[in-house]
Amino acid sequence: MEAAGYQLIVAGAGPAGSACAITAARAGLKVLLLEKDHFPRQKVCGEFVSFESLDLLQRLLGERLHPPADAILPALETSSAIAYPAATEYPTAEYPKRGRARISIDGTAITWPIHPAAQSIPRFDLDIALFRAAQHAGVDAKEGMNIMDVQRGEKFLVRTASQTFSASAVVNTTGRWSKLTQFDVTGKDRWIGLKAHFRESSPSPSVDLYFFPGGYCGVTPVGPDSINACAMVRSDLARSLEDVFCKEPALFARSRAWQPVFPTVTTSPLYFRAPETTANGMLLAGDAAGFIDPFAGDGISLALQSGTLAGAAIAQFIHGTCSLEAAQQLYHAGYCKQFAPAFRNAARLRRALAAPKWLRNAVLPLARIPGIGALLVRSTRARVS
Ligand SMILES: Cc1cc2nc3c(=O)[nH]c(=O)nc-3n(C[C@H](O)[C@H](O)[C@H](O)COP(=O)(O)OP(=O)(O)OC[C@H]3O[C@@H](n4cnc5c(N)ncnc54)[C@H](O)[C@@H]3O)c2cc1C
Repeated sequence: MEAAGYQLIVAGAGPAGSACAITAARAGLKVLLLEKDHFPRQKVCGEFVSFESLDLLQRLLGERLHPPADAILPALETSSAIAYPAATEYPTAEYPKRGRARISIDGTAITWPIHPAAQSIPRFDLDIALFRAAQHAGVDAKEGMNIMDVQRGEKFLVRTASQTFSASAVVNTTGRWSKLTQFDVTGKDRWIGLKAHFRESSPSPSVDLYFFPGGYCGVTPVGPDSINACAMVRSDLARSLEDVFCKEPALFARSRAWQPVFPTVTTSPLYFRAPETTANGMLLAGDAAGFIDPFAGDGISLALQSGTLAGAAIAQFIHGTCSLEAAQQLYHAGYCKQFAPAFRNAARLRRALAAPKWLRNAVLPLARIPGIGALLVRSTRARVS
């Protein structure tokens, strides 16, 4: 059977994939977006969307969306109370702003301002909103399509269990670990991610990070009486969020009053590696290109920005302005300029927080000096073009 043909196939419809597909479709390309899951769905994530990407998010979502996507835009524009669709668990909440981070380590707390404030947007809402925005932009967007492999010949052939599609270019946005994104993990620490939402009365409007040896747990409001608890922990140390809560006394005490909103979701193993922008002729964007330590709260922003950059680079190739190889180089140069410092600084900060206690005790007092915290937070942010 002849493969259905497109100019661009985007593999995976997280924030990076939808951003890429929307950008390419708005540039006039015939785009296919393939996603293995069905939306809406929960996803392991602290759901902290940094200020730097809120404007881009709003532009990607556009203005004439159908529910539930249109619930996001008013929240970003006015921060007034909005009516959520019945599918979400927070019927009348606005998406909360987060203007400060409280870091709890070795029994002491450091508070850093997040200025301008970030926003909590549940992935349950965000991912489907972006997927619908892609459809609205003219993308042929299909759910329940698990890509088995991609072959490169004269065209790219993308094979799912039931169909094969062809395209002149493919962008891999299937996340940090998938059938298309795999790498050598020999000797690397293996981490897991866990997330659930809990009821908590009047949660603090801050991002609270509880560090302990071998991991951390972030606690952030996602509604007027709900919080997101999301942990990254070495896989040999914990199997459940309850295991995680026991690892830090303040977190343990706080979590005693929580009532779960839905069962904990977990994620495939997390590994860190140097970012790459191309593999097997495909551009890589979002986590498929590089996974920034999640405590930085910049993964969604990097995904939106790198997906947009990749879509724009492929549009140049399809419009005949440059070859595919030149588009790859263009994307690589843009990626390094915008995102490399954020990766570097997040890794440094993470190493400092995981350093032996005597070293932390020597360095952490510096983080209390006014202005230093805000500077550190900013250093982990992508440079918006
Ligand atoms: C514990 C933890 C906490 C985090 N907290 C935050 C936070 O607070 N703020 C923040 O900004 N970032 C956070 N992140 C990071 C953030 O979740 C990611 O950076 C972001 O989801 C990356 O988006 P993406 O589109 O690249 O990948 P993903 O969101 O992973 O999307 C990839 C998509 O591809 C699909 N897919 C995979 N394989 C296939 C296949 N074979 N065929 C078709 N589709 C496929 C998947 O189903 C998925 O929908 C956190 C991550 C972890 C692990």
